[in-house]
Amino acid sequence: MTTIRCIECGVEFLQESLPEGTAACPNCNSRSIPCDVANDVNIKLNWHELRILCIWAENYGRSIGSQGTIYSIAQRIEDQARGDKPPLTLAREISEAGAKLFTKDGGYDGLTFSGCTAYGLSHQAHAGLVQPF
Ligand SMILES: [Zn+2]
Repeated sequence: MTTIRCIECGVEFLQESLPEGTAACPNCNSRSIPCDVANDVNIKLNWHELRILCIWAENYGRSIGSQGTIYSIAQRIEDQARGDKPPLTLAREISEAGAKLFTKDGGYDGLTFSGCTAYGLSHQAHAGLVQPF
């Protein structure tokens, strides 16, 4: 029995459970090559190093119009170990920072930049990522 994990949705299933000649994930129908969970590893890695790898992969994925897999993998990693650390992708970082910049009534709260310190960004760095509208 071989347990495999879909790299798109993260669902694990037995490879033998797939109908003969089928390679699609039974949950999301992805045809991406799945992971053999026997190859899962525990490694020592700094969150910042992982962030660099994810952001570079995200940028490459965006350049070829295929960043969905990167976002799926980054989300599964964040679910395991993020805590109060910054997101692994710029898209999520901008999304979360943007949510913090806008007040509940939809107004712009750009004077406080309260999200910057939470993510360890300088105001200048943050200003480069999220421009006021
Ligand atoms: Zn799937």
